Amino acid sequence: MNDDQLLRYARHILLDEFGIEGQERLSAARVLVVGAGGLGSPAALYLAAAGVGEIILADDDVVELSNLQRQILHRTDTVGLPKAESGQRTLAALNPDVRVVPITRRLDDAALGHWAGRVDLVLDCCDNFATRHAVNRACVATRTPLVSGAAIRFSGQVSVFDLRRAEAPCYHCLFPEGDDVEELRCATTGVLGPLVGVVGVMQAIEAIKLLAGMGEPLVGRLLCVDALTMQWQTVRYVKDPECAVCGEAGCGSGA
Ligand SMILES: [Zn+2]
Repeated sequence: MNDDQLLRYARHILLDEFGIEGQERLSAARVLVVGAGGLGSPAALYLAAAGVGEIILADDDVVELSNLQRQILHRTDTVGLPKAESGQRTLAALNPDVRVVPITRRLDDAALGHWAGRVDLVLDCCDNFATRHAVNRACVATRTPLVSGAAIRFSGQVSVFDLRRAEAPCYHCLFPEGDDVEELRCATTGVLGPLVGVVGVMQAIEAIKLLAGMGEPLVGRLLCVDALTMQWQTVRYVKDPECAVCGEAGCGSGA
């Protein structure tokens, strides 16, 4: 680490749990951020500010005016640009030490499997169940830690799925695919701008903890916030032995 880097990351290095070693682990890390929208914006900004070595930023949308109320990676003058490229510009301006790889096409199962196997951690910052389950399958298959966040209206959720631990549940254990859950999209229901910030920042905290190797990750716990009453709750959940993804019969059962 050179003098500029020691200065840039000084407030992290000062933390006993973090130190130079934690910073070096971050600098050596490669992270996939799925979605450069409301959650991906603050998550990627904090990861870049913290000096994560490489950020793969995937989003197949373009920046629209209606995104700017909450998607703080993007600017009025990047409306019309692919979000991954707009995000790359902002992150490069924030921290030129960080390599940002923009992916502007939708990641299918094969691409998710490819990337999940080549990164240290995945952040799910997307806005739909189909992608969430695809990301989970890729992370279970490759035993890549997954930090998942969601926000709609005034409600937010964060959890961590780390299948490197034998007893750890996966996303599908918590939200089985095909369950009769109504998919709410913020395009139709609305979402409070700073709430996606809170959730995305919590994802960044969990990611930095996992990468630097400190603290206790949010595994087997779903952290829920209701912004209207500002009440926070932690709901515990366990691995489903019958889980179609990580259970005995699942595709992720390692043999
Ligand atoms: Zn599972």
